[in-house]
Amino acid sequence: MTQVPENVTEFREQVAEFLSGRAAHLDGWQYFRDRSGITADLYRQLGSMGWLSVSWPLADGGLGRSADFEFALWDEMAYARAAKPPIAAGLIARSIIENGTKAQKEFFLPGIAKGTLAFALGYSEPEAGSDLSSLRTTAQPDGDVYIVQGEKRWTSDAHHADYLWLLCRTGSRTSRAQGLTLLIADLASPQIEITPIETLDGHRVNEVRLDDVAIPIENRIGEEGGAWTIIQEALARERHLQVLPGRLRRDLEQLIEWAFASEALTSDATQRVIAEMAASVEAITATADEIVRLVIDGQDTLVISACQKLVGTDLMQQIARFPSSVGDQAQVIVGNPFEFMWRESILETIAGGTSEVMSSIVARRGLGLGS
Ligand SMILES: Cc1cc2nc3c(=O)[nH]c(=O)nc-3n(C[C@H](O)[C@H](O)[C@H](O)COP(=O)(O)OP(=O)(O)OC[C@H]3O[C@@H](n4cnc5c(N)ncnc54)[C@H](O)[C@@H]3O)c2cc1C
Repeated sequence: MTQVPENVTEFREQVAEFLSGRAAHLDGWQYFRDRSGITADLYRQLGSMGWLSVSWPLADGGLGRSADFEFALWDEMAYARAAKPPIAAGLIARSIIENGTKAQKEFFLPGIAKGTLAFALGYSEPEAGSDLSSLRTTAQPDGDVYIVQGEKRWTSDAHHADYLWLLCRTGSRTSRAQGLTLLIADLASPQIEITPIETLDGHRVNEVRLDDVAIPIENRIGEEGGAWTIIQEALARERHLQVLPGRLRRDLEQLIEWAFASEALTSDATQRVIAEMAASVEAITATADEIVRLVIDGQDTLVISACQKLVGTDLMQQIARFPSSVGDQAQVIVGNPFEFMWRESILETIAGGTSEVMSSIVARRGLGLGS
């Protein structure tokens, strides 16, 4: 295990050095294309150094550093386009730490910390995405198991993962958020069928059908009917990792390189738009620092994080589209620098909460508008 300095700036330098030493093995944007292979190896390397659990409590096998270390790690990874945080070491590990039994902690946390155990997130369904409280996958208690029947949709990485973090209904059909329970399903079960769905950026999400899958009651996280609070608290503890400004700094650098290499730099209008984007990246970087501080202080980040996701993901699209919007269409032809960024940036405004839902949080919860 690598020694992690007490000072977060030094840790950031350590991460940057680690990444520069591996630059030849990291294919830019690899994570977004396929999280097996190179990305899985990278997670295992991070795990072997203790970095995947850098901000977990010491008592749970982590390094006990504050959330800004975790932010520094993934912000550098985002700048290098090397990887995003795996959900297992983030919201799933934190939920197990806060709500899991001793046996669950002993079974799942060591593999997650080492990067050898992967999870997929089974929340969304064909008829439930933004409004998860309407989900239909049922889990019926039957002796010492739950029998699960239903379908999950847009499940990233289910085809590489070992387990599914499964949100399902144990209450009545009308029980909404109060009737939801979290279970851990073993994806090796023959009653689970995984079918690929290709996304616009060539990444793969999945449809996951669960047909009378028996899940032991000991794989339930928290109380029956207690999932809603657990998932909200886990999301709140993860908000500093939702929009990583390193990603935008790198995208902007690529845009500036393009501007230097093209005729576009000579136009005042182009210079002004790029300068405005650079100012937005600065604002997003400052807001990210503020969100980290609020997370460390245990304060509410719902509205500020919604603002950040709304503005940050929109800026990703603006940067990616800019060369073609000023006439350099070649940049978005397959294989050219802005092509993959353009396609991927579209998905960023949907995954993890759509822009419309973020606007609604800002309007209603932040500004008190509407009902
Ligand atoms: C690349 C990618 C990876 C994903 N990975 C996962 C994963 O691993 N696990 C998982 O569980 N899910 C995953 N998702 C699903 C994602 O969380 C949902 O797509 C998202 O929550 C939106 O849900 P939906 O697609 O059902 O759209 P809907 O909720 O049906 O929304 C359809 C449209 O209506 C709008 N809308 C909905 N509600 C409101 C409202 N209250 N106010 C205003 N407008 C509204 C939306 O903005 C959207 O434009 C992934 C999605 C993407 C794109």
